[in-house]
Amino acid sequence: LNVHSDDHHAFSFSPVTLQKLPHLSEYLEDPQYAGPNPLDSNPFFHPSDGFYMNSSDVVLRHIVSRLSPSGTLDSPSHHLAYIRAGPRKNIFFDPTATRAAIVTCGGLCPGMNTVLRELVVGLWDLYGVRQIYGIKAGYRGFYSTPPVELSPKMVHNWHMRGGTVLGTSRGGFDLTKIVDGIQNHGFDQVYIIGGDGTMRGAIKIFEEIRRRKLRVGVTGIPKTVDNDVGIIDRSFGFQTAVEMAQQAIHAAHVEAESAVNGIGLVKLMGRNTGHITLHATLSSRDVDCCLIPETGFYLEGKGGLFEFLEQRLKERGHAVVVIAEGAGQDLIPRTKSQEEERDDSGNRVFLDVGAWLKSELKKWWDRDHPQELFTVKYIDPTYMIRAVAANATDNLYCTLVAHSAIHGVMAGYTGFVTGPINGNHAYIPLIDVAQTKNEVNVKDHKWEWVRSVTNQPDFLKP
Ligand code: ATP
Ligand code: MG
Repeated sequence: LNVHSDDHHAFSFSPVTLQKLPHLSEYLEDPQYAGPNPLDSNPFFHPSDGFYMNSSDVVLRHIVSRLSPSGTLDSPSHHLAYIRAGPRKNIFFDPTATRAAIVTCGGLCPGMNTVLRELVVGLWDLYGVRQIYGIKAGYRGFYSTPPVELSPKMVHNWHMRGGTVLGTSRGGFDLTKIVDGIQNHGFDQVYIIGGDGTMRGAIKIFEEIRRRKLRVGVTGIPKTVDNDVGIIDRSFGFQTAVEMAQQAIHAAHVEAESAVNGIGLVKLMGRNTGHITLHATLSSRDVDCCLIPETGFYLEGKGGLFEFLEQRLKERGHAVVVIAEGAGQDLIPRTKSQEEERDDSGNRVFLDVGAWLKSELKKWWDRDHPQELFTVKYIDPTYMIRAVAANATDNLYCTLVAHSAIHGVMAGYTGFVTGPINGNHAYIPLIDVAQTKNEVNVKDHKWEWVRSVTNQPDFLKP
């Protein structure tokens, strides 16, 4: 493949590595395709050839690179390709016989209901599936509660609602019972919406289904408001969260500005990654210091947070600090029981870094400036943000991702995840997604850009 760069030197790519997807035909003894896509015979929508994806259509993972003087791109990892998402001309499942199951697991995230709605509407309207079931309250619903029959009429306004109408939960992952449940209910398509833990569970379900040689397609739709899933550009709910975070930052700014030596402190979601905090900082423009889990920080001494805030208060009379929930966890003293505390899914419980920082700020000021007024207003908008319905951008994302997932499963792909890579939706093996994380690269231009905007210290101890 020859491509012309700006200055018209031809350069060539080395071979592309295709990230192959599991397909039901690989392990089924009788891998029969059902026939042409029913959209072909839709009386109103006459799909043009451009509507369908070719099985050779791919999306390239890395599009930013550095050319060597000889005009080649250096790292082989720059040439990973994923199968492009979208409808196929031939489908594997007979929609009139298909029984689809949809489940939501983990914490809330704006857009879960939109994905649910679009899975139901897409299966029903695009493919004519009539047996669509919701699994209640997470993975345990496969074996503990009867599934709920879903129809477009029932879900028509779900995209306007926050939360998940199906309910969600942590824990309750019993592989044998779940796959038995899938078999007993006769489900042949399973749509799993959830975070990193849910995706690790989805891999196990897919592998068990393959071991049992069942004609069941499994797909995961990553739900993470923190945007910590690797490979894909972003996950749904993220944009809504950033937008809502603005309101909290704005309120903190107003409080800080109206006080004498006022500090507005906002804690935002982000257990392992600071994407929400970073994007909210860049878009709000009122933030003086942005603290994320990917970089450490310290309070006392030269280049520390107190020194920086002291200067800001002297110059401007107020300051706004935004911190991700996972930042500074190693600075907070933990009791033995806090050290061992786990949630129902076995995740380590995070301590409230905002409450801790507020108290440390007060102690510092009282010690160093006992005669001067000082106020810290701490806002934690987490549950408010998680509970809202998705905004327009996220609703569009949810619709696309749900329809792409349906097209992929209908085509016979299994054990995969759908998401945008460089703006184009692609199918990615579940295992690849579960193994990669999307962290803020603090050595990259973007983080330095944040620091250039806030002018905050790098917190590298001298
Ligand atoms: P989030 O952290 O964004 O709220 P999550 O999907 O990571 O979402 P968890 O509570 O960790 O949330 O997991 C959701 C479900 O996945 C639970 O039912 C849990 O039991 C199951 N699960 C988590 N980790 C695994 C794993 N390694 N293997 C199998 N199941 C898992
Ligand atoms: Mg998780």
